[in-house]
Amino acid sequence: MPPELIAAIEAIQSLPGIGRRSAMRIAFELIKAGPLKTRHFTNAIEQLSSGVSTCERCGAYVSSRTGDDKTFCSFCDSPRRSVSSLCVVENPWDIYAVENTGEFTGLYHVIGGVLSPLDGIGPDELGMPRLAERVRSAGVSEVIVATNPSVEGNATGHYIADLLKPAGVKVTRIATGLALGQMLDFAETQAISQSLRARIEL
Ligand SMILES: [Zn+2]
Repeated sequence: MPPELIAAIEAIQSLPGIGRRSAMRIAFELIKAGPLKTRHFTNAIEQLSSGVSTCERCGAYVSSRTGDDKTFCSFCDSPRRSVSSLCVVENPWDIYAVENTGEFTGLYHVIGGVLSPLDGIGPDELGMPRLAERVRSAGVSEVIVATNPSVEGNATGHYIADLLKPAGVKVTRIATGLALGQMLDFAETQAISQSLRARIEL
């Protein structure tokens, strides 16, 4: 096998969920597709690291090439999104899992992880003071905690409730219908939808 082919297979195989056989099939298909299609593909991949950054208000993915006039993401910029409810998620990609349900019309806030004292991740690392400030200044009335259903995800939800409830903010948690340890981005849209509707107050 040519070293170029081996290198390509290894690179493709390093992606999550792709085994050796799938990696080989993709590499063969790319050879067959020819340079024009391959360039289209590699360009798109290259844009991921240089062209995608995160919204400075909520942490959602945003194009870095939108120009100076647009600093925020399409959710923050949209006049159709309700500013009174805020959905807190661990990762930017979790936004799409919630968004796919079509059930949520508010705004998002990415905290970048969950509380994990043993790993040195406390409230400051997750930007909790910034979350509290955003909730206060934007007049948010409900915060929906949509962290992954894990022990740490639940503990993070309770922390957020303790942080915001004294200010009169309703804090709810999605959980019902999702198994403990199940990642939000792998859950069925219908299950997320159900767990949003059946959210419980913390
Ligand atoms: Zn945003």
